[in-house]
Parts: sequence; C-alpha cells; structure tokens
Amino acid sequence: MTPGLIPQKDGSFAISIELPGTVVAAQVLSVLAELAAQGAVVHPTTAQKIMVLGLSEEAAKAALEKLEAAGAMIRKSGKSLQPRTCVGLPYCKIALKETFSLSRAIYEAFPNEELPHKLKVAISGCPACCSWANMIDLGFVGAREGFKVYVGGKGGYQPKAGAYLTLVSGEDEAVSLMRGVLAFFKERGQKKKRLGALLEGEGLADLKKFLGLEG
Ligand code: SF4
Repeated sequence: MTPGLIPQKDGSFAISIELPGTVVAAQVLSVLAELAAQGAVVHPTTAQKIMVLGLSEEAAKAALEKLEAAGAMIRKSGKSLQPRTCVGLPYCKIALKETFSLSRAIYEAFPNEELPHKLKVAISGCPACCSWANMIDLGFVGAREGFKVYVGGKGGYQPKAGAYLTLVSGEDEAVSLMRGVLAFFKERGQKKKRLGALLEGEGLADLKKFLGLEG
C-alpha cells in the first residue's frame, strides 16, 4: 500500500492532509479545487485536517503526487501530533494569545512519537476553549501570563474535564513541558489507556513530581 493512501469501507481511497500551522496554502487549495471539480469529496475533519475522499486507487496516487508537489503535509502514520487550534490573536476579539505559532512548534517538535495510546493536543487563545483545550489529553489555554496547561481530559462516551497542571510562560516552555508529559506517558502508560486514566488517584501528583513541579 502506498504510504498516505487510506483504504475506506466502500473500497475507495482517502488522503488526509495535516495542517500544522492551521492554515491552508493557496497551492494546496488549488489542487483541492481541481480534485473537487473532478468529483472527489473534500472534507474538513473535526481534528482540523482535510480529507480527500472517494478516490479510486489510481486517482488517489495521482492526487497524492499533486498534493505533495503543492507542499501539502500528508498524514502517513499516526505518530505526528497536530494540535486542534482555535484562531486566537490577532483575529479573535476576546483572545489573549496567538495560537498558530505554538501549534506549528508542537507539530514540528513531535513528528514521530511512539506512544502507548492515542494522545490528543489542543490550543485555545483564551479560556472560552473553542478547541476544547480543557477537555483533551493535553491542552494549552491562553491566559494573560502565558498558557495554562490542562491534562487528562477527553470527550467520547464518558467525557472528562482536564485537570489543571501548571502555567507555562510561552512557546519554548510549552514544548518543553509537553516533552516531559510525553516522557511520563511513555514510561507509565498502557495500551488502550488514555492519559486521564493514568492520572486518576495519585497520578496527577506523580506527574507533577515527574515534571519537577511544585505541589
Ligand atoms: S478560544 Fe478564545 S481565542 Fe480561541 S476562538 Fe474561542 S474565543 Fe477566540
């Protein structure tokens, strides 16, 4: 199977485009417009990616080539971490922080993480949390002094709010804290268990100790 082609239930193939900076380049949009005009289904996903659906294998291979030539980041494994990211400053009227740059920094810092189970990341420019950053495994929520970090949240059948972990002052500190959280998850995590399950009981205190945080 060509890496980047995703077989679908109906026998067709899909391609998933990651959007690390949370914006879509004009060249990629041009190829997407061409594919849509030819009958492909172009679907913006809930995980802030773009899926091109309904392609034959031959059409999918040709589309993959064109998209990569246009600079699209094609999802070829489940190991990269693209945060779900709201619009933030300077566009959103109530934002406290820019979000796009942290999103790109995280995507670039963690291109190939081998984790015990899935881990979702989100960034919001203010506590309104439009990207659900307070309800996800690892969320960064814009505050006046930096980003508040929440851990162990999730949606699904039994949604759970993330627990407040700490405040980071900016991008470098956010990436470095995330490195520590991932190291904890790799060391203590188990298959089919989200980070939240690991943080129950004394887990949050253990994580803080692991990261060298107070209290
Ligand atoms: S979370 Fe805040 S900054 Fe982000 S889009 Fe919503 S209101 Fe705007």
